[in-house]
Amino acid sequence: MDVSVKFLGAAGTVTGSRYLLDLGDFEFLVDCGLFQGRRELRRRNWDKFPMPPTDMEAIILTHAHMDHIGCLPKLVKDGFRGPIYCTAVTAELAKILLLDSGKLQEEEAEYARKKGYSKHENPEPLYTVEDAEAVFPLLVPKDFKKPFSIHPSVEVTYYHAGHILGAAIVRIVIKGDSQTKKLVFSGDLGRYHDPLLYPPTLIPEADVVWIESTYGDRVSTTVKTEEELAKAINDVFSRDGLVIIPAFAVGRTQLVMYYLYQLVKKGKIPNVPIYLDSPMAINVSKLYKEFHQDHQLIAVLEDTVQHPFQHSQLHYYRKQEQSRTLNDLKGKAIIISASGMATGGRVLHHLFHHLPDERNGVVFVGYQAEGTRGRRLVNGESEVRIYGQEVPVKAKIYSVEGLSAHADQNELIEWAEGFNQKPKLAFIVHGEEESAGVLAQKLKEELGWNTIIPNYLESFMLFEGI
Ligand SMILES: [Zn+2]
Repeated sequence: MDVSVKFLGAAGTVTGSRYLLDLGDFEFLVDCGLFQGRRELRRRNWDKFPMPPTDMEAIILTHAHMDHIGCLPKLVKDGFRGPIYCTAVTAELAKILLLDSGKLQEEEAEYARKKGYSKHENPEPLYTVEDAEAVFPLLVPKDFKKPFSIHPSVEVTYYHAGHILGAAIVRIVIKGDSQTKKLVFSGDLGRYHDPLLYPPTLIPEADVVWIESTYGDRVSTTVKTEEELAKAINDVFSRDGLVIIPAFAVGRTQLVMYYLYQLVKKGKIPNVPIYLDSPMAINVSKLYKEFHQDHQLIAVLEDTVQHPFQHSQLHYYRKQEQSRTLNDLKGKAIIISASGMATGGRVLHHLFHHLPDERNGVVFVGYQAEGTRGRRLVNGESEVRIYGQEVPVKAKIYSVEGLSAHADQNELIEWAEGFNQKPKLAFIVHGEEESAGVLAQKLKEELGWNTIIPNYLESFMLFEGI
């Protein structure tokens, strides 16, 4: 059986997940993500695909993060017309996120045009909102744990990955003339003890595995997230200040809302108004109700009167005017707003208005990448630039850890141990060189796995000698 894979991304880096599988008479992609981060990586988003998108016959998505779906509008714009398989929640999340991404691409091009910093006289967006909308009719939602065919000899099944709502591990069975081969893509793996999501599913069999390695070199310390969050909030409230929590709309926001609800219930923080000021986060939170079978928060499933996403102190602010009223807010209250690294979004105007007051506090709940405003704040800079102005940072800055959506090294190994027999080959993907290297070494030493860390655009025959 001749099956090859070409690594079009997430090779030696964490973004741009795309793997091109070629069965000879059938070519399909697993994930179609954007490259993010450094400029030289982002430039790859503009590269031509190694084959005409019109020749590609299907796409299988693992989950709705931009680094896994963000290139879909470009591919469709360039001629792809096949089915895009994903879980039902992923389809809904993808619509929300791709529209936002299209808008962002348009705004960036417009900004570059105005500022004249682009080499091009008329900088074009990578894709537009309209291009994003053209993806929607191609999305084909599928259930978890129910095998489906994408080709007479290829069957696919989704299993819970525990990473974000709808995130899946993908198992692909390829039936040849004389033999059957099983491929397993981990997608991004979540935590084993997440209060909202099911833990990553253990898969008993695989011939070839693709395993993510975002935190392949890190063991997360057992931080008491809930307590740390309470400590930061109570510290701010002891000064009669306001708490701002920059959070990503998907996953992190809902986890923060869950913890806040628990803390109030246990009497560990006062029952103050909480403002969720992000239309995208509101839309995403609503999906937890619609797709209650895909997570383990029973209260939402049973639609009790009060639960983390619905209670008398929780206010959803969708409109811009509502958001603006928070500029004058003083005293004990909590604002949750995106983006999580304070690189854009409504959280900017909250920071603009509330950073200069020493009573207030900003609580970061996720990793702050280099070069972001969030990182500068966490590093303790005394001024940050927002809307073209230097804003004095008088508010106190806090970092609460333990809300990561990624499995750590131990959890990755735990997942790998779930195979009854070791796979014949494992590709270590979706990690920086260092963390991919450390995980590869661990898998070799502890489980005897045969591992490869692929390079960008490298190809492999999967079953040669198997
Ligand atoms: Zn992800």
